[in-house]
Amino acid sequence: MRIDIVTLFPSMVEPVLAESMIGRARKAGLVDIRVVNLRDYATGRHRITDDYQFGGGGGMVLKPEPLFAAVEALRTPAAHVVLMDPRGPRFTQAVAAALAQREHLILLAGRYEGVDERVSEMADETVSIGDYVLTGGELPALVVTDAVTRLRPGVLGAEGAAERESFASGLLEPPQYTRPEEFDGRRVPAVLLSGDHARIARWRRVQALWRTWRARPDLLGGAELDAADRRILERFERGETADDVEPAATEREGHGRDSTR
Ligand code: SAM
Repeated sequence: MRIDIVTLFPSMVEPVLAESMIGRARKAGLVDIRVVNLRDYATGRHRITDDYQFGGGGGMVLKPEPLFAAVEALRTPAAHVVLMDPRGPRFTQAVAAALAQREHLILLAGRYEGVDERVSEMADETVSIGDYVLTGGELPALVVTDAVTRLRPGVLGAEGAAERESFASGLLEPPQYTRPEEFDGRRVPAVLLSGDHARIARWRRVQALWRTWRARPDLLGGAELDAADRRILERFERGETADDVEPAATEREGHGRDSTR
């Protein structure tokens, strides 16, 4: 996969792409990420990329010519152009998964008051990373690049378990723990140490449902739920907790309500 990030501020973007998992994926040749300086596509002695907006109103707008020229220079037959824009549809895990299927993304980072509307019309898709306004599209482009890259085959390697992560099935991820078993008086739920894989899977499912029901009930409508999941959600509605449905304590410890947090 190739991702081109078109920006007026390459030095803001490049260091992030050199680190950690994305840096390793690039080195391993799993993804070809290029940072493209928009100014290289501006013409004239001063290589101007922005201008005042017609109709008045404060703030500058990115001119169409350099953005169109950059896209034309970078375009391949598989190219899919994505404009970062707070007015776009929300960027979600499902959008990331769809973009991860593509072979070539050209991500356009706006600046100032945004881009000339004709650039939005030229883009295949616009995305917003949330209902807030940032100073530029560099952070959104990095968010998109990160979320998409880690879904590409081979990128997560042994570290990843993308299919169990938050949003993969429309639910939030269940709690996870590592050593030590006890830290500052807080014990890891005994079920996770039980070796009973079926019970662990049940407990994780109930915890995922519980977390989502409490923190993001809006996700439940689009989640993949079976009849058992729905019965569990009904129990939450009636006032039961995750620990009532699937206790974290083992038989040996008893099923006390306070056995986990
Ligand atoms: N005037 C615009 C508005 O009110 O919608 C905001 C422009 S913003 C200051 C400049 C650029 O940052 C945008 O063109 C876009 O590329 C990027 N940007 C800011 N917030 C964003 C968000 N939530 N999602 C995606 N891109 C964003």
